[in-house]
Amino acid sequence: MALKDNRELYDCIVVGAGPAGLTAALFLARYRHRALTFHHNSPRNEYAQGVHGFLGHHGILPNELLARGRDEVTDHGGLILESRVEKVERVAKDHFRAFTENGSAYDARRLLLATGLRDITPSCPGFREFYGVSVHHCPDCDGYESRDKRLVVLGTGTKTVGFALSLLTWTDKITLITDGQPHDMSDDERAKLSSFDIQISERRLAALEGDLESKQLHRVLFTDGEPLECDALFFNLGTDFSNNLHETLGCELDDKCGLVWVDERRETSVEGVYAAGDITPHSQLAIVAAAEGAMGAIHIHNSLIPAERKP
Ligand SMILES: Cc1cc2nc3c(=O)[nH]c(=O)nc-3n(C[C@H](O)[C@H](O)[C@H](O)COP(=O)(O)OP(=O)(O)OC[C@H]3O[C@@H](n4cnc5c(N)ncnc54)[C@H](O)[C@@H]3O)c2cc1C
Repeated sequence: MALKDNRELYDCIVVGAGPAGLTAALFLARYRHRALTFHHNSPRNEYAQGVHGFLGHHGILPNELLARGRDEVTDHGGLILESRVEKVERVAKDHFRAFTENGSAYDARRLLLATGLRDITPSCPGFREFYGVSVHHCPDCDGYESRDKRLVVLGTGTKTVGFALSLLTWTDKITLITDGQPHDMSDDERAKLSSFDIQISERRLAALEGDLESKQLHRVLFTDGEPLECDALFFNLGTDFSNNLHETLGCELDDKCGLVWVDERRETSVEGVYAAGDITPHSQLAIVAAAEGAMGAIHIHNSLIPAERKP
């Protein structure tokens, strides 16, 4: 459909071409919708050496998975534009507009936000050198590869207690470090960690050291005292949204986790705006993000079917 000034009114604009956005784009193309997907290449797992647990693709390089996904979308007639979306707005009911970094505007009847999250990462020297191989943030993704290894957990507070305990699934050699922060845990929580022989160190982190070629971490260095020998480090420092598009649209956040709230159809609190993947609650795995993208596309498709074609 064309607008008054001849600009195309797409059926859907998908913002973000990670596993969630690309899977949504693939399904939308298969439903023969005119969907435009914006691809700005900095996926959350760009540092990972392989996507673990993605059935049929276990261990595939993240960039390869996404490149294949983009090809599958375009092979089905889907459109992908390499550009960052700077702003989105609701023009009217069933009409949204997205502005890209070069000032172009694109219009669509539906919007799907799949822009992912950014991890808050340690700032110490050595972090980037080992990230994705022997430094991780996700036990579900990399716990299996760390079985029976000596692990260091970096973080503070109650959340980190659960995080450290979850790693007992794979190893019982765990030390928790807080990088100079007060550990901020109750006596019961500390007793619980101690009952599994998880020691807490509040020393300040100075650097990570190991074999740079294989990216294998060997030890954590502190500003004082002896280094801590280890095989891997898991950090639990939280995440941030990668942009505020959901905020400018007025999408409500989930009370409990602060991510973008969606209903069972993956529609946000703003009618016509859907969301999938890491920006929504209970995701943070590539295969879950992909499944949510598919669900979002199915419900967007249903919402676009004209009333006369419905039973
Ligand atoms: C180091 C690491 C290792 C991981 N390992 C695994 C693993 O082994 N197995 C697993 O299942 N999961 C793993 N994950 C988690 C997995 O990567 C995420 O769950 C998954 O990528 C989420 O997909 P998504 O599509 O929601 O978001 P993302 O993959 O983050 O994709 C979002 C995309 O949107 C783009 N974008 C953001 N804003 C804009 C904008 N304004 N305009 C245009 N584009 C935009 C971003 O550039 C990005 O490309 C890992 C994560 C990390 C960080």
